[in-house]
Amino acid sequence: MQDESPRTIFHVDLDAFYVSVEVREDPKLRGLPVVVGADPEQGKGRGVVVTCSYEARKFGLRSGMPISRAWRTCPTAVYLRPNFKLYERVSREVMETLRDFADAFEQTGIDEAFLDVGSRVDDIGEPRELALVIKRTVKDVHDLTCSIGVGPNKSTAKIASDLQKPDGLTVVPPGRAAQFLAPLPVSVISGVGSKTRAFLNDRGVETIGQLQAVPGKQLLEWFGKTGVWLWGVAHAQERIPVSPREMPKSLSVERTFRNDAEDFAAVYTEARDAARELSERLRRGGFTFRVAGIKIRFQGFETHTRERTLPGYTDSEASLQETAEALLREFEERGEPVRLVGVRVASISKK
Ligand SMILES: [Mg+2]
Repeated sequence: MQDESPRTIFHVDLDAFYVSVEVREDPKLRGLPVVVGADPEQGKGRGVVVTCSYEARKFGLRSGMPISRAWRTCPTAVYLRPNFKLYERVSREVMETLRDFADAFEQTGIDEAFLDVGSRVDDIGEPRELALVIKRTVKDVHDLTCSIGVGPNKSTAKIASDLQKPDGLTVVPPGRAAQFLAPLPVSVISGVGSKTRAFLNDRGVETIGQLQAVPGKQLLEWFGKTGVWLWGVAHAQERIPVSPREMPKSLSVERTFRNDAEDFAAVYTEARDAARELSERLRRGGFTFRVAGIKIRFQGFETHTRERTLPGYTDSEASLQETAEALLREFEERGEPVRLVGVRVASISKK
């Protein structure tokens, strides 16, 4: 039997997290356009903007934009290399604070978490009051702002937290979640990527309201099991629990050659294939990674590993393949038969 009792779920999302931490550490940066990302090298730099301050966004800068273009658009911005060690430490501290407010807690990324706050809301009265207490505590204790979405389930709360940023609070009244979702485009649903959106748009489904009008049987036909989930999200009936799911520390896929590979081209081919399989697993789990690595074992069991830290979290299959190939290259000229090749990711986060 499924529990039908109403729930109160918060999605807490720290605002422009990496940049906000940088500004906190160096208050001179407050109010300036600040970019965390690759070195712009006077406009010749490679790599991308990892994140930027709201002041920088006013110039049109965005996460994922090539750093060279960001520099041409806004050369006066302050450009910083990411300091992930610092961000990870601050994240742990903020998450400890948030955890204290929840009956059940689930961190879903370096800067966001779900809180099931059912009993806490009973104590304090209104969800809005509790959300304001959380926002004030995060500000007072950590000198950071966050945006909170409140809803009857995780998917609605997540959508709500994104509607007003920074320092936002969006409370979806219980019993009105489906109406609240109806006018929003389907792309706001976390898990509806560009492919699914295009598929739905092609069938005249642009908004969640239009999605609500699609019969469940049709969604099942279009998307299989995912269709059941999508129906639940659209009707604000999804009831996936907030659970402290541990994220894996690392994931890897390894391939052992039936006969030790003499030709290094075969090593690259297997590595690419392993990277593809690993990317699929990451996508299914909704994971991103920041460290990519390889393992290579030669005939006679001599084994080497290499890894590289990427400029930001990604789930890109291409960048996993490219990094694996780049790391394998140093072993190519040894000309020795290879017994095993593996691809690995670490520093895993939730999308
Ligand atoms: Mg955030």
